Amino acid sequence: MKKVILTGDRPTGKLHLGHYVGSLKNRVKLQNSNEYDMYVFIADLQALTDNARNPEKIRNSLMEVALDYLAVGLDPEKTTFFVQSQIPELTELTMHYMNLVTLARLKRNPTIKTEIKERGFGEAVPVGFLTYPISQAADITAFKANLIPVGEDQLPLIEQCKEIVHAFNNLYGNILVEPQAVLADNKVCIRLPGIDGKAKMSKSLGNCIYLSDDTETVKKKVMSMYTDPNHIKVEDPGKVENNTVFTYLEAFATDEDFKKYLPEYKNLEELKAHYKRGGLGDVKVKKFLFQILEDLLEPMRKKRAYYQEHLDLVYKMLEDGSKKARLVAQNTLKEVRDAIGINYFNKN
Ligand code: ATP
Ligand code: MG
Repeated sequence: MKKVILTGDRPTGKLHLGHYVGSLKNRVKLQNSNEYDMYVFIADLQALTDNARNPEKIRNSLMEVALDYLAVGLDPEKTTFFVQSQIPELTELTMHYMNLVTLARLKRNPTIKTEIKERGFGEAVPVGFLTYPISQAADITAFKANLIPVGEDQLPLIEQCKEIVHAFNNLYGNILVEPQAVLADNKVCIRLPGIDGKAKMSKSLGNCIYLSDDTETVKKKVMSMYTDPNHIKVEDPGKVENNTVFTYLEAFATDEDFKKYLPEYKNLEELKAHYKRGGLGDVKVKKFLFQILEDLLEPMRKKRAYYQEHLDLVYKMLEDGSKKARLVAQNTLKEVRDAIGINYFNKN
């Protein structure tokens, strides 16, 4: 049997470069290897846990995320796309797993802690938000997923899922499958910083370059990026550590890009050395980054525009995928109910 890959995104806005290098790029690669059974889903229920008062935002973002998927090369011929809310079995699984997790454990989750702080929830955190790691475990285990391509912030959530799998299997028998996170190979890609230099590019922090941004917007954003604040004149020696433009070059630049746009340097190491010595201006480095990003984003814009004109195809893809995925989740839920012994009226 093929190994199963599953990942999702919250429909809280369009997808950005952090999603691309942290997870989407890996997904496309794994999809095209044809070695896996792949599910990609839009986590609308999870997005509602901190947006319950703003459901239009979630509804509107659903299509944006689906278009981004198609734009980066995820392909409905090879991958099953589904919408979380269309699979009620996930909610029942969540209910069963809730009995296996303590409140103290949820409150200790470092990702949740950071997100509660970022959102200013304090003690007023919605119960649904605090417990979303449990619902995420339901998403993963319903499909018996083996591999989860994610950014670094998701590691504590995968850990929580593993604990649930162990607790469940110990209690009720070997039903659930333990997942494994797949991180990007490149260290800077597991948590790409925002254009403001902040720790993480994130929709919620408003420091993103979106995959669907037009040329002018990308140019403006790149030109405004955080660099070394002490590198004022071209002759000044500059720092490349915590210099977002260089971090992005580490994430995106290849030696081919140097050949094409900056043949006077062989690779990033040579460019960095010049910047550190002094005599290399921010504008030149930023222009180089802009060209690389344009080469990446332009084909995505074209694909996105095509599907934007054919939204009926996109809706159908989500609907068909949700139906197909639901059958799988139904099967797992049946096994779970049987294992717990709440199958009172089953004839078999
Ligand atoms: P929100 O602010 O609504 O939480 P987000 O920008 O954090 O949105 P998610 O939908 O929570 O995006 O994340 C989807 C996937 O993308 C996850 O696997 C996450 O780890 C990954 N990801 C998100 N931001 C980054 C980033 N800056 N660098 C690397 N991976 C990222
Ligand atoms: Mg997030």
